Amino acid sequence: KQFRDGLEKTRKGLVEKVSDLMVRRKKIDEEFYEELEEILIGADVGVNTVMTLIDELRVEVKKQKIENALELQPILSQKLMDLLRGEDDISLNMNENGITVILFVGVNGVGKTTTIGKMAHRFKQQGKKVLLAAGDTFRAGAIEQLEVWGQRAGVDVIKQQSGSDPAAVMYDAVQAAKQRQVDILICDTAGRLQSKSNLMEELNKIYRVIQREVPGAPHEVLMVLDATTGQNALSQAKLFGEKSGVTGLVLTKLDGTAKGGIVVAIRQELNIPVKFVGLGEKMEDLQPFDSQQFVHALFA
Ligand code: GDP
Repeated sequence: KQFRDGLEKTRKGLVEKVSDLMVRRKKIDEEFYEELEEILIGADVGVNTVMTLIDELRVEVKKQKIENALELQPILSQKLMDLLRGEDDISLNMNENGITVILFVGVNGVGKTTTIGKMAHRFKQQGKKVLLAAGDTFRAGAIEQLEVWGQRAGVDVIKQQSGSDPAAVMYDAVQAAKQRQVDILICDTAGRLQSKSNLMEELNKIYRVIQREVPGAPHEVLMVLDATTGQNALSQAKLFGEKSGVTGLVLTKLDGTAKGGIVVAIRQELNIPVKFVGLGEKMEDLQPFDSQQFVHALFA
């Protein structure tokens, strides 16, 4: 799915509301700013960011002597684009001289398994040899679900029994990856939130195994967040992200929410780039995040 289709709900929930407001009020007064503020906060752009944005709009309105609210539309979209654009490179860090190891983290239900399947498919399409590691040995059904995605994408899955040590699964997976000379090893991990310290220990153990077996690995630690949970996704990322060496975010289910403004809030409040977005449930519905495309899809 392309941005345009995937962002339909946010276009309705955010952009169309803003356009309606501009058409309806025309006059740029305090009430106009208040309503605009409400719409933006409602779309999860984030209170602090909205305040800054409105202040900047006020400045532009004065500077350019704008009287008709409709003239604010291009200025607003440009401001949003500026807010989204970071210094960060959204491309994935790849190992040029061996196996690239990509680790996925994220709490249950956010779309981690689906994203791994989509990512495997993506790399396969690019002609890469991919292997999956079933590192979520905790959640019932996680291994089987990953296998289903492996079959769909045409990629093998290295697994052990449910309940086994994830670090041991990773060890097996790395050995298999070396033997089979794969390009990319994608590792699933457990996502239970209730035992945070255990999860961190488990992750650290996994890191150690991977680092020992493949110098420079993991090359990416991607944290998966569910866009439909809005500000919750943001707090999850704050809680986990910076401590667990996360190198990039994948924001799933953007197609399922009118609150796509969460992308802006994440960009503003975290130092971790959104590298991919999920725009549907199918294998093809994963897109590299491009801020310009994103804003264009919303406003065009
Ligand atoms: P996990 O527990 O994190 O592994 O989550 P799953 O991969 O099982 O996904 C949970 C649900 O979210 C499934 O029903 C997926 O089809 C759905 N899902 C995942 N990504 C997306 C997405 O980008 N868009 C939509 N609409 N649904 C998604």
